[in-house]
Amino acid sequence: MSVFTVRFWGTRGSIPAPGFKTSRYGGNTSCVELARNGRTFILDAGTGIRELGERLRKDTQGKPIDADLFITHTHWDHIQGFPFFVPAYVKGNTFRIHGSHGVGRSFEKIFRGLMDPSYFPVDLGDMAASLEFHELRGEALQRDGVEIKTTFTNHPGVDLAYRFSADGKSVTYLTDHETYQTMNTVTEFARKQDRIVEDFCRGSDVLIVDAQYTDDEYRIKRTWGHSRYRDSIRLGIDAEAKHVVLYHHDPSHSDEQMDVIAKDAREIIKASGKAMRVSVAQEGFQIEV
Ligand SMILES: [Zn+2]
Ligand SMILES: [Zn+2]
Repeated sequence: MSVFTVRFWGTRGSIPAPGFKTSRYGGNTSCVELARNGRTFILDAGTGIRELGERLRKDTQGKPIDADLFITHTHWDHIQGFPFFVPAYVKGNTFRIHGSHGVGRSFEKIFRGLMDPSYFPVDLGDMAASLEFHELRGEALQRDGVEIKTTFTNHPGVDLAYRFSADGKSVTYLTDHETYQTMNTVTEFARKQDRIVEDFCRGSDVLIVDAQYTDDEYRIKRTWGHSRYRDSIRLGIDAEAKHVVLYHHDPSHSDEQMDVIAKDAREIIKASGKAMRVSVAQEGFQIEV
């Protein structure tokens, strides 16, 4: 029996990319469900959370839903689905929303701004579910036998990575991250920072990782806070992850381009001589851990 079930509801970064060119890998922005013993952890609230909300409603048949959301950061592609997450409008449901402070503002204040009347017709305060905001400050959390740890990623603003561990298994969610040494050239500082992230990911059974760019794209998008997929694979190898899942796909990448990336990723691993598994996240893709 598996410890965690991981399901991908949104795999795209930056902006939704719907349409026939992306129908296999998916066009919704970041959202992953981590399920364990009937408890639901929702990682990011990009547009993929809308369909997840529908699924939760069907599963629970009107019974109260109680779940934790872990938000990496408040860039649009990680929160823009929340106003369309129908279970948040239902009285009796409870959602604990975890995230980091922003630059000069609290997590709750920034998140609430998403539903400011200038942007959306319904105020967050009118959502009938109980919404509790928890600003994380580096402490580890415990939820029904699952330990949740965080670390900061290298991304404009403030962004958290999460690691979920239980019964000797772990799933790490590291999105919107640019490897320090690629961005800054190899300095002592960059090496040290990369080592902190590598240690955080060490031995993960599943490592879901930002892999937005090809080499060519990275040349003009360096310092934008995302990684080349080859750097993310290297991170997985160095951290001895068992299964790396490439994630946060560039909105310009068609299914055909994603197939090329998947093939290249497998060849990079083969050339390394390591046994690590690599997948490219697809909407609807499910992994048992
Ligand atoms: Zn993003
Ligand atoms: Zn971002």
